[in-house]
Amino acid sequence: MSVKYISTRGRAPALDFGDVLLAGLAADGGLYVPDRWPVLSPEALSGRPGRGDYADLATEVMWPFVDGAYPRARFDELVRDAYAGFDHPEVTPLVELGDGLWLMELFHGPTLAFKDIALQLVGRLFDEELTRRGEQVTIVGATSGDTGSAAIEAVRDRENIQIVILHPHGRISEVQRQQMTTVDSANVHNVAIEGTFDDCQDLVKAMFADSAFRAEQRLSAVNSINWARVMAQTVYYVAAATRPGLEQVSFSVPTGNFGNVLAGHVARQMGLAIDRFIVASNRNDILTQFFTTGSMAITEVHPTLSPSMDIQVSSNLERLLFELLDRDGIRTAETLEDFRQTGQMQIDYRISADLHREWCGVRVDDAETTSTIADLYRETGMVIDPHTAVGLAAARRIRRGSDGPIVVLATAHPAKFGDAVEAAIGECPPMPPALAELADRPERCERLPNDLSAVKAHVAHCSGHASQ
Ligand SMILES: *Cc1c(COP(=O)(O)O)cnc(C)c1O
Repeated sequence: MSVKYISTRGRAPALDFGDVLLAGLAADGGLYVPDRWPVLSPEALSGRPGRGDYADLATEVMWPFVDGAYPRARFDELVRDAYAGFDHPEVTPLVELGDGLWLMELFHGPTLAFKDIALQLVGRLFDEELTRRGEQVTIVGATSGDTGSAAIEAVRDRENIQIVILHPHGRISEVQRQQMTTVDSANVHNVAIEGTFDDCQDLVKAMFADSAFRAEQRLSAVNSINWARVMAQTVYYVAAATRPGLEQVSFSVPTGNFGNVLAGHVARQMGLAIDRFIVASNRNDILTQFFTTGSMAITEVHPTLSPSMDIQVSSNLERLLFELLDRDGIRTAETLEDFRQTGQMQIDYRISADLHREWCGVRVDDAETTSTIADLYRETGMVIDPHTAVGLAAARRIRRGSDGPIVVLATAHPAKFGDAVEAAIGECPPMPPALAELADRPERCERLPNDLSAVKAHVAHCSGHASQ
């Protein structure tokens, strides 16, 4: 029997995979989760099913979540196509650092950050589902850097999708801008807003809040709460933990929205042998509080060297909370409603005591991030990015001599955060050819004032549904 999806807030109808894919958020404000955890097949647990490559493992691991939505051969084709563009044959290669520490490189996709692993597949699944329904959508999003380019690369040239990405004019790095604006595809529309990232986000929220506009323009999003993104990320946990020598492995995961590490939890729920998750945060340490004390309180967001983790409220934590509350949607909804109103949350001490066996939260500040990059470079000649450095510093702090191996998830290529790396090691990380070439390409971008009606008119123009 195929899996159905239920809301973490218990008041939305159960849906099939295709509906969940396009819906994103549930109608009651909750997030979708499978109604039960499928068990990993013996083939998946062998780590090398089929032809023994990443795509076959991915199909095997994800199949129970999508069974019924696609014929298996078609799903297999979409998965294979999604990972064909990665620049490493293993897709997510493991590198041994010594002392029981490993790095798993998740940055071999087209935009050199881990979001490609989920989005390259999700873009294809979206297009497939829209074709089946004979529908078209316009994806609208705001970016402070990484997410926008990963989303653009994921849906460029897809027939049924237009994508409009807002970024703050002059406030993202050259490389980040070029990764978006040099994409030469008719369905990709970049907008530089004369304002801040918050202004961009407010404009996007306002467009989604206008239900008439939203329906007329068929607005859609591919944000990190989308179940399909979590699903696609479970695969590399299986790839790592089934490798000989990495039995009972722990993972150290540099975390922002909690999507990456939650995927590891899902893999464990499916029967994968994992010891612990180290939830690594930068100075924005609300998750460290949660995993050490069982409580959390919202404060302001501080900018750090690892900007993709500069988040206060990690939306995917809701999925773990739902599990901790025995899948009681009503209690989950109450807890989150209360958190929203008071800015504080305290979970039952028994639940919190349980958490310590499998999770631990570690906070790493900018100084330690920099020294971690510098130390690794001095010891091994390897260069890592600041997000990965947060994960590595956390793993080193937690690891005691007797512990099992720890895999640190390397979430971005160092060249994407060249300034922070240069400050740590005194030189620029080598630029991969794919990034270096961008500087010579023509850029396409519309510059607009921070003005809702101007932006709406532009979105309508891009979507081909211009309002009267
Ligand atoms: C998005 C991102 C993260 C955080 O991932 P979450 O799933 O939000 O926890 C970490 N590192 C990099 C480089 C990212 O782009």
